[in-house]
Amino acid sequence: MVNFQDTIQEHGEAIGLSLRHTSTAMDLAAELQSLASRSKHAGDMELNHLVAALKSEITNANRANIAIQKTLSKIEKAALEAVVVKSKLDRYALWQTPAGASVYRLKADRAEGDPMHYVCPVCYQNAKISILQGSQMKKDCMVCDKSSCTYRFEYSRSVDRA
Ligand SMILES: [Zn+2]
Repeated sequence: MVNFQDTIQEHGEAIGLSLRHTSTAMDLAAELQSLASRSKHAGDMELNHLVAALKSEITNANRANIAIQKTLSKIEKAALEAVVVKSKLDRYALWQTPAGASVYRLKADRAEGDPMHYVCPVCYQNAKISILQGSQMKKDCMVCDKSSCTYRFEYSRSVDRA
């Protein structure tokens, strides 16, 4: 599997290198322009046009690199956020309540000091964690539409030892 962060870092380094190359190319084009102006070809319209076209192309390449660099930064930010979200979601496992409803339950080994709680499976599928609220018998998601997001936990008050 591709490591997102390594790939982004490699691309970032490649773009950094490319930006240095375009910077050097622009310096060389400026030197070429200076040399041309001092040579016996000074004032040659065709030569001046070519040097100007070269500088324009280098500038375009530089702009393209900067645009790619900005896009890459956005992708890197999104990838880091996805890692954080996945880490939060990984704290829960799908679990069936004694009454037969499917909800996500906090994994005991990932509690990190939190009391046992359950999260909405609909929100979970959308990468959001909404703690179910309610009684020992049934709990609701306070984020989803209440009519469709009520989860029955127990039919009697006797069990909560899962
Ligand atoms: Zn929900």
